[in-house]
Amino acid sequence: MHKTSKLGAKANEHVVSPFPGHGHDHAACVRAAITQAEHLCAHRSRRLTPLRRRVLELVWESHQPVKAYDLLARLQQSSTSAAPPTVYRALDFLLGERLIHRLASLNAYVGCAQPTHQHTGEFLICAQCQAVAELDDAATSTLLAQRAEALGFALTTQTIELEGLCPRCRSDQADASSSVSS
Ligand SMILES: [Zn+2]
Ligand SMILES: [Zn+2]
Ligand SMILES: [Zn+2]
Repeated sequence: MHKTSKLGAKANEHVVSPFPGHGHDHAACVRAAITQAEHLCAHRSRRLTPLRRRVLELVWESHQPVKAYDLLARLQQSSTSAAPPTVYRALDFLLGERLIHRLASLNAYVGCAQPTHQHTGEFLICAQCQAVAELDDAATSTLLAQRAEALGFALTTQTIELEGLCPRCRSDQADASSSVSS
């Protein structure tokens, strides 16, 4: 299930979730994610309880990763009974169903746009605005697994996190430097 974009099918082949561009319809993103989660949980006979659903919505609030204590603060705005273990249990459920990913470098969570197919998680993280894009390139993960195996390393999880500048921040930076030089 690949999204179509201006980049064309070839460039998009390994893209789970691109950087949100200008005019990005994020409400549609969130709706798609929640609908997908509902179907997936129904199919797997897992319960997407109101709390789990709410946590998923909060994780999907943007394409920036969100930390557990921020989620807790947001939940406590509507329900004072929300305690840290409640949030962590909901996050564990969502991670287990692969509806979200955990970014180790930021200790934060981000929604997955394609939870139905197994992938390792290859993330591009913007150092400026923290927007995250996700790739799924089997060639890269297979190669790394082979390199690890050659060292006698039994790989359990593979998450790749790359830091850089997203297209929006790059163009903002270009605008800023051109206005300085003019
Ligand atoms: Zn979006
Ligand atoms: Zn994913
Ligand atoms: Zn950025």
